[in-house]
Amino acid sequence: MKVVVIGCTHAGTAAIVNTAKLYKDAKITVYERNDNISFLSCGIALYVGGVVKDPLGLFYSSPEKLKELGAETKMKHEVLDVDLDKKTLKVKNLETGETFEDNYDKLIITTGSWPIVPKIEGIELENILLSKNFYHSNTIIEKSRDAKNIVVVGAGYIGVELAEAFETNGKNVTLIDSQDRILSKYLDKEFTDLAEEELKKHGVRLALSQSVIRFEGENGRVERVVTDKGTYDADLVILCIGFRPNTDLFKGKLNMLPNGAIIVDEYMRTSKEDVFAAGDSCAVFYNPIKKHEYIPLATNAVRMGTLVARNLIKPTTRYLGTQGTSGIKIYDLNIAATGLTENMAKYYGLETESVLIEDSYRPEFMPTHEKAILKVVYEKTSKRILGSQILSKVDLTQMMNTASVCIQNDMTIDELAFVDFFFQPHFNKPWNLLNIAALNAI
Ligand SMILES: Cc1cc2nc3c(=O)[nH]c(=O)nc-3n(C[C@H](O)[C@H](O)[C@H](O)COP(=O)(O)OP(=O)(O)OC[C@H]3O[C@@H](n4cnc5c(N)ncnc54)[C@H](O)[C@@H]3O)c2cc1C
Repeated sequence: MKVVVIGCTHAGTAAIVNTAKLYKDAKITVYERNDNISFLSCGIALYVGGVVKDPLGLFYSSPEKLKELGAETKMKHEVLDVDLDKKTLKVKNLETGETFEDNYDKLIITTGSWPIVPKIEGIELENILLSKNFYHSNTIIEKSRDAKNIVVVGAGYIGVELAEAFETNGKNVTLIDSQDRILSKYLDKEFTDLAEEELKKHGVRLALSQSVIRFEGENGRVERVVTDKGTYDADLVILCIGFRPNTDLFKGKLNMLPNGAIIVDEYMRTSKEDVFAAGDSCAVFYNPIKKHEYIPLATNAVRMGTLVARNLIKPTTRYLGTQGTSGIKIYDLNIAATGLTENMAKYYGLETESVLIEDSYRPEFMPTHEKAILKVVYEKTSKRILGSQILSKVDLTQMMNTASVCIQNDMTIDELAFVDFFFQPHFNKPWNLLNIAALNAI
C-alpha cells in the first residue's frame, strides 16, 4: 500500500507515526514544503516572553525520526496539484526547482491552515508580521528586540498571549479588536471583564470596538496603525485575526465548508474514496450544535491524524466530535472554556439558560482559599449542557475537560447536579463547583 501525506505538522505527524505503526508494509511518502516538522505554535508566545528558552524544545519529531519508522520525508517539497481520479500528484522540489509526478493508493491531506491577511492599505509594509510557524516566531523575536511600540491586531487567544509576552518584555502594547470584548468567541462578558482588567492593570492598552482601516509607514516600514476610532504608534504589528484552511489544491474536488475546510465523515474520509484529511485543513463535527464547524486546534489535529491511520483500510474507530475545549493563562488568571458561550449559542440560534457561580474552590477553613467563577450554559428546553467557562487564580482549568465530557455525552444540567465527584479539603468542597452550578440551575 502506497500512502502519500501532504503536510507534516501535528495532523501529518500523527497520521504518519500511526500509519507506520499499524501497517508494516505501507510505503509512506511525506511532502512538506517547510524545512522543519512538528513545530508547536502554542509555544510562540512563551518563546517570545522568555518562558521557553530553547526553541528546539518546541519540536517533537524530525525527518530522521520518521525515517526510523520507515517513512520517507521529502522536505522543501510542495505539492502543486493533485488528480484525485488518477490518484497522482505533481510535486515541486523547492530547492532544485524540479517538478515530478508521484502516485498513491491512499492520500492523507494534512495541509493545515494559514493566518488570514486582510486587504488593508499599507499591509505590505515591513514589520507587519504573522504568527504561525517557527520562522514567524524567530522574526517576531528579532524584530521586537528594538521595538518600543507594538500593536497586536486580533484579541483571540494568540493575540492576547502575545500582548502579555510583549508587555512582559517591557514594550508598550496595544491590542486592537473589532469586537467590544477580548476573547469574545470563547468567553462571556463576566469572564472577559476580569481578563481585560488584568491586561489593563499590567499596562496593555485595549483598543476594542474598532477596525483597522490602514497601516501608515515611512521608508517602507510601519509606523502607525489607523483604526476607525484612533491612531496608534507601532514599530511592529502582529496580525492575529484568524486562520483559513490551506485547501486551494482541492477546491471543487472535495466537499468543503464555504471557507474551504474539508468535510470528513466520522472515519476521516473525504468525499472521494481513498482520500483522508485531518487537522486545520478540515471542518470538525462540533457537538454543541451537532454540525460541522471550523475550529483549528492542535488537539483536533492530533486526534484526527491518529484516526486517519486507524481507519485507512476500513472504518474502525469513530471520531467523537469536539467541544473546542481551550485554555489560556493571562498573568495570574487561569481560564478555560468548552463548548458554547451564551453569546455564541445566541449566534447559532439556540435558546439557552445559564448559571454563574462564584465560590471558593476549597473550604474556607483551609489556610488559603481562592475564589473561582464558573458558568454553565444549557439548552432551555432539552436542558442539554452546551458549554462552560471557568476563571480563577488557582488552576481549576481541568474542570472544563470534565464539562467537555458532559457535553460530548449529551448530559443535562439536571444530571450534572448529582454526578459523583471526589471531595478532599486540599482540593475542593463536598459539592464540586460543577455540581454547585448545576444545583443552582435546577
Ligand atoms: C500562535 C499559535 C498558538 C496556538 N496555540 C494552540 C494551543 O495552545 N492549543 C491548541 O490546541 N492549538 C493551538 N494552536 C493551533 C495549532 O497550532 C493548529 O491547530 C495546528 O498547528 C494544526 O496542525 P495541522 O497539522 O493540521 O496544520 P498546520 O500546523 O497548519 O501544518 C500544515 C503543514 O502542511 C504544510 N503544507 C501545506 N500545504 C502544503 C503543500 N501544498 N505541499 C507541502 N506541504 C504543505 C505546511 O507547510 C505545514 O507544515 C495555535 C496556533 C498558533 C498559530
